[in-house]
Amino acid sequence: MRLFTTVAALRCYLSLCQKDNSPVRSPFEANITSVSIGLVPTMGALHLGHLSLIERAKQENDLVIVSIFVNPLQFAPTEDYQSYPRTLERDRSLGQQVGVDAIFAPTAEELGVGEQLLSRTQVVPPESMTAVMCGKSRPGHFQGVATIVTQLFNVVQPHKAYFGQKDAQQVAIIRRLVKDLSFPVKIIACPTVREASGLAKSSRNQYLTPEQKQQAQVLYRSLQLSELAFKSGERHSEALKAVALKELATVKSVAVEYIELVDPDTLKPLDKIEHRRLFGAEQVRGYYQHDRVQ
Ligand code: AMP
Repeated sequence: MRLFTTVAALRCYLSLCQKDNSPVRSPFEANITSVSIGLVPTMGALHLGHLSLIERAKQENDLVIVSIFVNPLQFAPTEDYQSYPRTLERDRSLGQQVGVDAIFAPTAEELGVGEQLLSRTQVVPPESMTAVMCGKSRPGHFQGVATIVTQLFNVVQPHKAYFGQKDAQQVAIIRRLVKDLSFPVKIIACPTVREASGLAKSSRNQYLTPEQKQQAQVLYRSLQLSELAFKSGERHSEALKAVALKELATVKSVAVEYIELVDPDTLKPLDKIEHRRLFGAEQVRGYYQHDRVQ
């Protein structure tokens, strides 16, 4: 497995891989083969959730690139950018073990997000998608995500890119970005990997005490109860949300940020649903989790 920290080195590697494996390069010749590239963008501190994305990418591509970049553009000044877990050596050996071809771990400076955050070009997805749900409490977050994901797409030029459904709002915004800017990449959304307790795996779970971890389980539990109500025939948004909120209220230390029922493509709130999809977010003493059922 290779580790690259510069755009130039990664591009050089990718073009060599294409040349090695693609004997027929003229677009006019028949049976053109080219190396398919799968990209898994992450912020590192890899866990089983990330590994499930990597596994899927390996099944579907010749070459799997994992990017590890703690993106300063997506953290508000009050958030945990400085303290976010950075475990590159451990990530590197995990990547090696699971058969990643290359890790791309640039510095912020390498991607041009060093000193002057506001003076760089940014990608601005529709406000109707970024200012709702998680975006309400995290202004600028999805713009920061969209900007760096766009840059990673341009650097790696993947055929497919893999994202977790745990971050469902992110997936919807990236799908929209790809559509609106005509990126030649297919977005693959992968199911959420959970602890046995139902808590979604997350690099930030390590901030939680065992007691807080137990409290945080209420989010998935509440979404499941709501799903159960849906399966029993309830279709009205307010009623489905009330089921989840009632369960969330049983854990006093959990502050609910939102429970929403939205259209999966536009993220517009729905009064009534035909398909199950419920998003939720909560805070357990400052720690933030979001989740969804489908
Ligand atoms: P992060 O490193 O937290 O930015 O996550 C990188 C990618 O892994 C994102 O697309 C996440 O949605 C995805 N991911 C994180 N946790 C999980 C999980 N528990 N199950 C599935 N995908 C996940």
